[in-house]
Amino acid sequence: MVESMEARVSEELRRRAIRIRGVVQGVGFRPAMYRLADTLGLTGFVRNDREGVWLEIEGTAATIHRFLDELRGAAPPASRIDQIESADVPPRREAGFRITESPEATPGDRAAAAAIPADLAPCRDCLRELTDPTNRRYRYPFINCTACGPRFTIVRDVPYDRAKTTMAVFTMCRTCRREYDDPRDRRFHAEPNACGACGPKAALVAGQHTLSTGRTAVSDAAAAIADGKIVAIKGAGGFVLAVSAASEAAVARLRARKHRPHKPFAVMARSLEALAAIADLDDIAQEAVTSPVRPIVLVPVRGGVLAPSVAPGLRDIGVYLPPTPLQHLLLAEGPPFQVMTSGNLADEPIARTSAEAYARLAAVADLFLVHDREVHARADDSVVRTARRHPIPIRRARGIVPEAIALPIEGPPVLAVGAHERSTVCLVHAGQALMSQHIGDLDHPDTVAFFGEAIARVCELAGVKPELVVHDLHADYRSTRWALASGLPRMAVQHHHAHVAACLAENGRTKRVTGVAFDGTGLGEDGSLWGGEFLHADLTTSRRLGHLRPIALIGGEAAIREPWRIALAALVDAGEPLDRAHGLLGGVKERLVERARAVLDAKLAPRATGAGRWFDAVAVLCGVASSVSYDGQAAAELEALAGTEVGPPLELGFIEGAPFEIDLRPTIREICHERRHGTPGAKIAARFHATLASAIHQTCRRIGTPAIALTGGCFQNRRLLESTMDLLQADGFHVLTHRRVPSNDGGLALGQAAIALSRVRSTACV
Ligand code: ZN
Ligand code: ZN
Ligand code: FE
Repeated sequence: MVESMEARVSEELRRRAIRIRGVVQGVGFRPAMYRLADTLGLTGFVRNDREGVWLEIEGTAATIHRFLDELRGAAPPASRIDQIESADVPPRREAGFRITESPEATPGDRAAAAAIPADLAPCRDCLRELTDPTNRRYRYPFINCTACGPRFTIVRDVPYDRAKTTMAVFTMCRTCRREYDDPRDRRFHAEPNACGACGPKAALVAGQHTLSTGRTAVSDAAAAIADGKIVAIKGAGGFVLAVSAASEAAVARLRARKHRPHKPFAVMARSLEALAAIADLDDIAQEAVTSPVRPIVLVPVRGGVLAPSVAPGLRDIGVYLPPTPLQHLLLAEGPPFQVMTSGNLADEPIARTSAEAYARLAAVADLFLVHDREVHARADDSVVRTARRHPIPIRRARGIVPEAIALPIEGPPVLAVGAHERSTVCLVHAGQALMSQHIGDLDHPDTVAFFGEAIARVCELAGVKPELVVHDLHADYRSTRWALASGLPRMAVQHHHAHVAACLAENGRTKRVTGVAFDGTGLGEDGSLWGGEFLHADLTTSRRLGHLRPIALIGGEAAIREPWRIALAALVDAGEPLDRAHGLLGGVKERLVERARAVLDAKLAPRATGAGRWFDAVAVLCGVASSVSYDGQAAAELEALAGTEVGPPLELGFIEGAPFEIDLRPTIREICHERRHGTPGAKIAARFHATLASAIHQTCRRIGTPAIALTGGCFQNRRLLESTMDLLQADGFHVLTHRRVPSNDGGLALGQAAIALSRVRSTACV
């Protein structure tokens, strides 16, 4: 009797509504749910909406449980489930399981940010079809499926549906349509689904004339690259410039035309096997380079194959594998190693439309490989480096954005506008931080316009309007000026506090730490230039406990481009007689040194505590980078110079006070002594890294806080990061580092936003 009652209860029809949040749109999530429900004999439906995926399943309690048990395992590889909520609803007794249309978005919905996927590199299945002569998409440059293809860069609006992407103008042929409509097909609801008959087409263009189209255009472009030509290619997030990476003449020509004398170029390789010939990749680097993000990964280069001017003066180069099928074909048919660099000049943003590319890159590219699928959102290639067996982001863009970052704090919608260089913006809503793609340095009007576009886009994707805008203290940053002109309620946040807060926020920490913020320069609370800071900070407040000794920037901005001026200031400050030390300034003319000395003696030079400036000074004294053409060049070359050399820390002083000062004058004196006695620059370079790591370790011991946040652009330097972590961890400190956003100014907006939320909350509580 009891048994049959139980049987009847378990046979009773139940219905469960399930809300899933995370990266669940545009990654084949609905078909996966369809297949699971179908296999279990459940009825109901699944659909996308602004919050993610909404499912209703109907069947016996046991099958519903099984569905919930197996849900995570059935989710497609490119998806990420952040949250599942479910509740019983009344049964509806419909027939079968369906994938239904997305409802129209209503204003004021919860953040949809997490629902838009980033672009995904070609999957294995698509690459197999791409190279299979019997497949109907053989060598079709725009092949994709639910597991791969463009997403963020083609999405005009949410929810993610073909009609709301730049694919809307292409009408699927019957074969493509059948794939798209069939829940058992791997292209079921692949929004950018297309083929050679119905989809986008490539064209090779020179001086406004179309030379060839379709698959031939791609082959012709590959041949032109092999021939030493510079070809502008419409990639996923805009134009890139390609040349053969083995041809010194071609690479040198690209440098001359792009007015880019030293900044390293990234190299795309045909395959992982090919990469092994030019670079040393450990398993972590291999994992990063083959991930669907397809970032540029900085790894040690092997000599012999690449042209010397690909990355002059550096040991590490950026390498990557083709992020789009179009580039895959170019690498398969053209040279196996190609320089691929953003299609822009100096400060301009990456060219988005063909018209923009023709206008701006006319003097750079010999040919243009274009196509008729519009790029809606610009996105440069993402860049990562590995340290302590983890990838660390250097630049967040294509393949990563708009992946949201969960914050340990909630509040009203806040927009943070970041810094001035390596600009990104951040919109925080409902505990989720949506970071924009890398925008660039806000010096060129077109980059400032892109900054405006990026702000509009994060607000659009999140579906909210900011109630507060957060900016840097620096009044001359273009981002600050935008905030001032916005008419929104504002909050100013100190630069290095924001760096520390970014590190705390991404690590989900709200408690106080010792924040070590080492970067170039940022404006301090006292109006002077900071950048080698020890802050006692949480997400609300920050106190400057100490800093590196300030160094004079002779000629202001000129000192940043000509580090010998900084070295000179350091020598004079350390009391080194210039007649003896002049030889260490990298052959700068005596007349220039005298003039710089006069500026220094007149105390006309601003002073800065930036750790980056001490890297500049020491790089020059070690014989590299007396003048530079890109930000961070001196530090990068000093790290490269150190190579595998090791050595003990150099001498260091400590001046008590509030704030205290780490005195690097003894360090400079010891460097001069060593150099005069013939110690090679490489040895000094290694010892200088050890000196800074030791200085940080000793200082953290004095302060005593058990948790340390390492942040600021200097921690892109692997040697500094790893040696500092080693010392601190061996001593029992809990060390927080960056894994989600860059430690450089590209991560600043996240910290600004977190501080604003925290301050809003603490005032609300009072
Ligand atoms: Zn695919
Ligand atoms: Zn088709
Ligand atoms: Fe900074």
